[in-house]
Amino acid sequence: MIERSKTEINLDHFEYNLSNILKFKNKNSRFLQIVKADAYGHGAYQIALKAIELGAKMLGVANSEEGIFLRYQGISIPILILSPSLESEIEDIVNYNLTPTISDLIFIKKLSHYLEKKDKKISVHINIDTGMGRSGFSYSNFKENIPGIFQFKNVVIEGIFSHFAASENDKEFTDLQILRFKNIVSDLPYLPKYIHIANSSGIINMNCDFCNLVRIGILSFGIYPDKRLKSKIYLKPVMRFISYVSQIKKAKNGDSIGYNRLYKVKNNLTYAIIPIGYADGLEYLLSDKGFVMINQKICPIIGKISMDMTAIDVSNVDCKIGDKVDIISDKNEKLFAENITALYKGNPYELLCQVGRRAKRYYFSNNKLLSSQPLLRRDFVSKDFNDEGLNKIISTAISQRLKSDEISSVIYANVLRKLFYDSDNQISYRSQFHHTIEFIDENPENDFYVVKTKLSFRKKLINENFMIVCANNNQSLQRYFLDPKVEYRWLLHNNFVLDKDSFSIERVAINNIELIKKYQIDDKLIKINCTHPKLKMLRGSVQEYSISTLTKYPKNSHQLSVYINEITKSFQIEFIYPENLTPEIVPIFAGKTKFPKINKTKNKISVSSQIDEWIFPNSGIVFSY
Ligand SMILES: *Cc1c(COP(=O)(O)O)cnc(C)c1O
Repeated sequence: MIERSKTEINLDHFEYNLSNILKFKNKNSRFLQIVKADAYGHGAYQIALKAIELGAKMLGVANSEEGIFLRYQGISIPILILSPSLESEIEDIVNYNLTPTISDLIFIKKLSHYLEKKDKKISVHINIDTGMGRSGFSYSNFKENIPGIFQFKNVVIEGIFSHFAASENDKEFTDLQILRFKNIVSDLPYLPKYIHIANSSGIINMNCDFCNLVRIGILSFGIYPDKRLKSKIYLKPVMRFISYVSQIKKAKNGDSIGYNRLYKVKNNLTYAIIPIGYADGLEYLLSDKGFVMINQKICPIIGKISMDMTAIDVSNVDCKIGDKVDIISDKNEKLFAENITALYKGNPYELLCQVGRRAKRYYFSNNKLLSSQPLLRRDFVSKDFNDEGLNKIISTAISQRLKSDEISSVIYANVLRKLFYDSDNQISYRSQFHHTIEFIDENPENDFYVVKTKLSFRKKLINENFMIVCANNNQSLQRYFLDPKVEYRWLLHNNFVLDKDSFSIERVAINNIELIKKYQIDDKLIKINCTHPKLKMLRGSVQEYSISTLTKYPKNSHQLSVYINEITKSFQIEFIYPENLTPEIVPIFAGKTKFPKINKTKNKISVSSQIDEWIFPNSGIVFSY
């Protein structure tokens, strides 16, 4: 048992449900997958991916933040914000190309004003209240608003929609809503691209022939909002929520269990404590009422559910500590979300949204684990992706990473994709970085080792020349840390004088072209300019760099640090030393894994990443000897 609870998301069930639902829509209708509230607790990103694979043309979210988060993760199809947006969200909506809903004239005016300032254009959908009595222009006086809505050049009316109040069980009222909507649509100066009204139940129960988009939510997750739908469509629950038995106890007649002594023991019983409570999404109203399943047996929840713990009567089941406990099952009907919520007249939508707030999600297809979704993901929404913002994200992530593997996965997968694949940013990175540092004890009398370094990596060649710098104090070198023209920096110990005798380049090459070196030495720095006329032709594409140097290191320093200060894709750093040394290493890594692979033999330590793994700047290794 690693986690106290987890949710398992069966993507095959999701696919099964979705394809069944789609059979009910008009032939010419497209579909929008609802992923608001993290896809009803199933994980917006993974659900979005699957839905897009199955043909979704649009996604539906609750607010700009949910939309931005999908954008960060590389989702590029249109994202509709279903509820009215606030003025404060306009900037994000525009920057992340989200599609807001227009529910009144005030918002569309503010939006247009902002767009004008920025000289931009976006698409919107008009929301009509045809009887839901919630957001949107009221159907009764919508006509008067038409000139106001359609007057803006920079606001493209891409869609118009309404929402059913009771499509799962009130056909008469739903028909009336459709009629009201139809009248509105016929009044429009032109037909927007998308006209839509049906939610999940509406797709199954109704037919709206003038609509060309449906919005699919709850049914795709395998939940029936009304029992009567069961005779029309077969669905499979997508979510399973499980925990584990953490303690087993006995109670006897007269004992009580839990807060306020709600449960009074009448017959001797065995009960189990499970390590989750209402804070984990186990609904409080299920206290003394709900059930769980342990080893295929349904067992009652006894007494009050606590914030973090719950008692289960296990008198009738063989169980031991560590056994799985199904809270929401994707197999046993008694533990389907809608049947659990029926016990307390609750709402399955709500139960799904709150489940697993402390649980990691695991995605399955074909009984194979595809991916898992970290917990922190849900809190980690960063505001922008300009360079400064990125630096902040990276540095925050690096500091967070010490506490969390999960946040680093977010960075790893999302930020890097954003950086290198989704934009034509001029950021370059190194790959196949290989650095060898060899200490040679040429003369036992010497107080220094002769050091040979060898560096090779692949990187896009931007300029026809680059520099190698060597300084004997940190301050002088620091100025060159972020200089993109410098490919190699070496900090010479301050015991040594800055000259060619202490630091020199043995060879510097791009591919097999040996470059022309020009030394420039002063009292603070050795600067070596490296270039070749042939480099002109190689600019703009990835080339193989190699740099070999000859230098010195004091024997009594006992410490050597190697930094990676550019984003790097896979590395190997080797330290070769005389056999009488017994160095230790301390890796400081920012990347997907904190601990690189370390291989030690009697005269060599080799530190390397996984193949193709990204490493962030400020990573490094300290060798102490
Ligand atoms: C949530 C939502 C839906 C999805 O409803 P389901 O009953 O889950 O299918 C559709 N449309 C709008 C506007 C919504 O807010």
